[in-house]
Amino acid sequence: MKTIQTKKIIDTVAEMCIEANTFLSEDMLESLRTAESSEESENGKEILKTMLDNFEVAKRRTIPICQDTGMVVMFVSFGQDLMIADGSLEDALQAGVAKGYEEGYLRKSVVADPFIRTNTNNNTPAVIHYKVVPGDQLKIKILPKGFGSENTSALKMLKPSDGMAGVRDFVIKTVEAGSPNACAPIVVGVGVGGTMEKAALMAKEALGRPLWMRNPLDHVAALEDYLLEACNNLGIGPMGLGGVNTVLGVNVEVFPTHIAGLPVAVNISCYVNRHVEREL
Ligand code: SF4
Repeated sequence: MKTIQTKKIIDTVAEMCIEANTFLSEDMLESLRTAESSEESENGKEILKTMLDNFEVAKRRTIPICQDTGMVVMFVSFGQDLMIADGSLEDALQAGVAKGYEEGYLRKSVVADPFIRTNTNNNTPAVIHYKVVPGDQLKIKILPKGFGSENTSALKMLKPSDGMAGVRDFVIKTVEAGSPNACAPIVVGVGVGGTMEKAALMAKEALGRPLWMRNPLDHVAALEDYLLEACNNLGIGPMGLGGVNTVLGVNVEVFPTHIAGLPVAVNISCYVNRHVEREL
């Protein structure tokens, strides 16, 4: 049985928080470069160029790529043959977030109670989703989520008869209403099926899938392509100022559902769609 010390988890998570907020992943950079070269609006082109310049400066000076360094969402795959020594996994993950946000001088954006709204001053708690898997690995994926885009996300319980057309319509309407305020060009995560909370979770997880990777199911991959084209035809453009690049990617995840339902969730991320993954 493999054993991991909590100190290792804390240090790794701290590093990941700083990395996710300082460097954008290559799939995101690549699609922003492609957007810049294909953008037809002059304003849009200038905005995309400024975004790419901003990433270069952030990388060179190790400073955040955006002032909103997000609320941390984590997906943790925990091998059933793994032991954690010197404390609990949950405490170590949360301590890692606190350390990373302190040492990286990242903005603390979390309030302790949604009504009283006092800042926790260390960006915890993170929202952590666990999955127990075979083996002895600990896989951690971190997505610091900005709320300009989070606030434009939506969920709807469609009827089975709404079918594929209903899902398309809901996603496009959500993007049309939200993307001008979501720091476009955006990435759209979609979850279809399961229950209400499963659809939302899939939509969030979909944001962490590299943009070049399509869903392995042909009909779902075709839906991704359709939605990407339809959303870009809206003409909303970078930062909502017009153009042909509103959406950089649409990732759709599906799950079996009940005979009486068709849940669909749309989670929107801005152009700083941050995600970092490590295995211990
Ligand atoms: S939505 Fe994204 S780009 Fe806009 S302020 Fe928030 S984190 Fe930054």
